[in-house]
Amino acid sequence: MKKIFPLIVVLITLSVVGILFIQMSWINNALKLKNEEFLRGVDNTLTQTKKVLQEKFIFKMHSNAVDEESRLFFLKNNFRIDGIFTREEVADVIEKQLLQNNIKEPHEFYISNIFKLAVLQSDGFQMADLSTAKSIELAPDNALRSHDTLYLSVYEDKNAIIREMLWMIIASIVFTTIIILAFFVTVRTLFNQKKLSEIKSDFINNMTHELKTPLATISLAIDALTNEKVIHDTDKIKVYSSMIKEENKRMNKQVEKILQAARLEKEEIKLNLQALDTHQVISKVADNFALQVQEKHGVLELKLNATDPNIQADEVHFSNIIFNLLDNALKYSDKTPHITVETFKHGNGILSIKVKDNGIGMDKETQTRIFEKFYRAHTGNLHNVKGFGLGLSYVKAIVDAHGGKIKVESTPGKGSTFTLTLPGA
Ligand code: ADP
Repeated sequence: MKKIFPLIVVLITLSVVGILFIQMSWINNALKLKNEEFLRGVDNTLTQTKKVLQEKFIFKMHSNAVDEESRLFFLKNNFRIDGIFTREEVADVIEKQLLQNNIKEPHEFYISNIFKLAVLQSDGFQMADLSTAKSIELAPDNALRSHDTLYLSVYEDKNAIIREMLWMIIASIVFTTIIILAFFVTVRTLFNQKKLSEIKSDFINNMTHELKTPLATISLAIDALTNEKVIHDTDKIKVYSSMIKEENKRMNKQVEKILQAARLEKEEIKLNLQALDTHQVISKVADNFALQVQEKHGVLELKLNATDPNIQADEVHFSNIIFNLLDNALKYSDKTPHITVETFKHGNGILSIKVKDNGIGMDKETQTRIFEKFYRAHTGNLHNVKGFGLGLSYVKAIVDAHGGKIKVESTPGKGSTFTLTLPGA
């Protein structure tokens, strides 16, 4: 799959370019053919006009030559335009022959004699066109008497040919565009599918890891509890059972995170809005969190300065988002954690809550993507920080549902600050 995918993209791109090239050369060829057909038509007109004028000459002169040879002999000796044909007669013959060759473009003609002097000419004939006009000698070859030459200028309208082919050109542009668009959509869908399947297997890996560790600990603790020596030692029983309880809590937390995400997927955010003292909730979450911070010898500082900390919010979801932000602040830290939670009330009633850490921070590209579901950045030398990439997408969904906003400012290596702004009560 890994190699086939780029190969397919390359092959399809080459095919589309090839089709484009073939179409362009095909249209070009068609234009050339049309032009050649036109030039052939003019040539035919000249030879046919010559023939008709010769026939007419024989008829006009009441010649009694019947067979081919005597007619040719008669024409060689006598054929001429001057004094025999009128301008209108010649014009009429040319016009008819042009129409027979399907040429409707405007045209002018000119007939000169052996001394290059004008014998007959149409009104609009420009002498400047003489060199480009197609010509034919009207008398048979080696004629003794005349060297009358017919010059014919047909003003070909190149745009007319293009106009005639316009629907073909438009149709091929439209179909090619459709093919390119369809190709683009297919490639994008394939890419998305690929990304999705990678995300899915990442997620399954993470989830199994996250659930396996507590399960293994629980299993070991239970083994220990059934041990003869431990069964009579109440202190040890307490240690092991609290271990089981802790691991159970951890597992519950993970399962809850996945459920939160599943609920968001179905857009089932039902908020139980009530007047909430945010300071109280933040302090409660911070208390529960204190132990984990202590374990890492860190500091969790609260600067709850908002004059009126009340907002309309759902207590459970609000606690969860504060917890998620603190959890990340602690998780993504490679030195002694210093986390600050700060609140501020703006004049317009909006409440800001800032969660600031001195952790690993993130680059600009990561900052734009962390609120996407399942997105996890590479955390450099911070290995083994586990997660599902769901926490912040949940935070954003809940903040949005409360009509608030969340933004992040971060410097790699220095730390990050998440700012929530929520409408006041
Ligand atoms: P998880 O923590 O489960 O991976 P989140 O949605 O909570 O998922 O976070 C998404 C990503 O955002 C994390 O993988 C991490 O790379 C980055 N991130 C979140 N919070 C912080 C933080 N405080 N400092 C640095 N990176 C963070």
